[in-house]
Amino acid sequence: MEKILVIEDETRIAELIRKGLAEFGYEVTVAFDGEMGKRLIHNREFDLIITDVILPHINGFELCKLIRQHNPRIPVIMLTALGTTDDKLDGFDAGADDYMVKPFDLRELNARVAVLLKRKGKETTSAAGQELIYEDLRMDLNTKTVFREAQEIKLTPKEFNLLKYLVENAGKVVTRTEIAEKVWDTHFDTGTNFIDVYINYLRKKIDKDFSRKLIHTRPGMGFILKMEK
Ligand code: CA
Repeated sequence: MEKILVIEDETRIAELIRKGLAEFGYEVTVAFDGEMGKRLIHNREFDLIITDVILPHINGFELCKLIRQHNPRIPVIMLTALGTTDDKLDGFDAGADDYMVKPFDLRELNARVAVLLKRKGKETTSAAGQELIYEDLRMDLNTKTVFREAQEIKLTPKEFNLLKYLVENAGKVVTRTEIAEKVWDTHFDTGTNFIDVYINYLRKKIDKDFSRKLIHTRPGMGFILKMEK
């Protein structure tokens, strides 16, 4: 059962959230002020934290910073009656992952909780030191860094995802349509020219300065990642 900490000083709202989330199958602990919230953050393990902004003793922004020092990965949702863009930005500055303005719909809160917990689950899986290695190419999936012969290569997120797809399918021809679907998550009826453009960006970074080339075009078919012997 996933554990959620709710820090909210208005008992009526706290109880509403507790009940609502419990119905969705979460184990919910409530803290009624910032100090109590802080103690719980330090002494117990939670999967997600929901905190109000205006709280006795320690406010939500301060709490959020404390949470981040303690655990950079735990998802935090901030609740507030204030709703200006500035408050929202302060919340994100403090390290919140999401923001909800009161009054809010419990189903909406639950939906956001579910999204954040799912994302956290994925990050934890990939946090186990995941690497993709092909010949002298190494991709660190956690830090999103790429090395060839121990030389770091800077890639944009799209280039990184494209290279990852090629490495995962090393030794196999992948078509432009496959790339469009798997890397760009789209189906293109016409014009997959942009894929050639990205392949060229990658080649410049991955192959240009190295004598052995990894990325090859198979005319009329697609591309293959393979070490040229
Ligand atoms: Ca409050």
